[in-house]
Amino acid sequence: MTPISQKIGVLGAGQLGRMLALAGYPLGQKFAFYGVSRDEPSALLGHLHLHSDEVDNLKELVEFADVITFESENTQIEMVREIAKSVPVYPSEKSLYHAQHRGREKQLFQDLDIPCAPFVVVDSLADLQQAVLDLGLPAILKTTTQGYDGKGQVVLSAEAGPEQIEQAWHRLGEREVILEGFVDFTRELSIIAVRNADNQQVYYPLVQNVHHQGILRYTIAPAQQISSLVQQQAEAYMQKLLDRLDHVGVLTLELFETANGLVANEMAPRVHNSGHWTIEGAQTSQFENHVRALCGLPLGSSAPKQKIAAMVNIIGQTGPVHQVLQMPNAHLHLYDKAERADRKLGHITLLADDPQSLYQSLQQLNAYLP
Ligand code: AMP
Repeated sequence: MTPISQKIGVLGAGQLGRMLALAGYPLGQKFAFYGVSRDEPSALLGHLHLHSDEVDNLKELVEFADVITFESENTQIEMVREIAKSVPVYPSEKSLYHAQHRGREKQLFQDLDIPCAPFVVVDSLADLQQAVLDLGLPAILKTTTQGYDGKGQVVLSAEAGPEQIEQAWHRLGEREVILEGFVDFTRELSIIAVRNADNQQVYYPLVQNVHHQGILRYTIAPAQQISSLVQQQAEAYMQKLLDRLDHVGVLTLELFETANGLVANEMAPRVHNSGHWTIEGAQTSQFENHVRALCGLPLGSSAPKQKIAAMVNIIGQTGPVHQVLQMPNAHLHLYDKAERADRKLGHITLLADDPQSLYQSLQQLNAYLP
């Protein structure tokens, strides 16, 4: 039998690592974090907090851990490959390789017959001008790597001419970019799935995500008016990805809902902001299921505990949290981060018995909504 209690090393020390630890402690797990600064959200949690400014610390993390995971798809592949020689890293290099490059990610979607926007990867201005002619406008131009929260992308409107295209090329830093056809969507959705090494798989319900200026502002879980057929379709896409990647841990897929069905946008090989509602809202949270998957344990039920939930991000300023604490159906999470524009400082989960009472509660949180 796999021992339940294990030592988990986390590459990164932000709020995702912190919430992983908070989910793993009740199972007796120990955690160590490998972060970049000394005031990150996981700094005071866990058995060890190590820093990338001290070279020996990575070695110490590897010696400590039974298994290692990461917080970000931007984790260096070379580092993961090196670590994996000594201790298992989940998700593995294969998931990371595809998820950290938008071109490879979209190619994988195509190979697996998962609908996605038409795309072209280019690394020169001349090729970009040609790609715009081939693909047509409107389109969206993104850096192939390192983009997050809407950073590293420019929308090219239907009227954009060669000059605007050149401006966009300069704005993104004259580097490899991906041009994507603009998807005419009705809503943005995401689905979270978990797989363990025994190939047990669980899927959470599709949720609706509302972004403002590229940043997730709130999630409604489950997304309303989703037929069982659409949920099944999303799960089928996830299953193909999990199987192809031999993925172990949480995998998130962001999707557009369109008149012609679901269109994949991007995936994240990790716990995801659109799954924070599962801490109070599901039988087993995404964080606990990720920990269970890493440790070779049976996965827990992904069923929601109540009719409907919302997760509202706290961004830039902490806001009227005392008021939030007085709401009987609200759960406040603060990540212990200093206030800064556009920074995710925490989130609030609201639980409700019906959509109407959820929307009433959401109105009380209007200070947090765009
Ligand atoms: P991403 O970083 O790929 O998640 O993109 C950030 C946001 O830009 C998404 O949440 C969408 O609102 C929008 N977006 C991204 N790609 C497309 C696309 N191909 N068509 C339309 N909107 C998009």
